[in-house]
Amino acid sequence: MKCTECGREWILPVSFRLDEMGKIYHYCPYCKKNTFHIVLGKVEDEAGDPAPREEAPNLEE
Ligand SMILES: [Zn+2]
Repeated sequence: MKCTECGREWILPVSFRLDEMGKIYHYCPYCKKNTFHIVLGKVEDEAGDPAPREEAPNLEE
């Protein structure tokens, strides 16, 4: 997400859906205070997560 105060972009590792909020008020580690941040999108593709696998049914019969 991007801080509207200092303009820096950084990643907030959270599990809830920031992308549905669009803009959040959060602590900025660069400004060292709470500022508004624009949510740029989810970054889970950069985290190296494997593609989600479907739960395979038991096929061992
Ligand atoms: Zn900032």
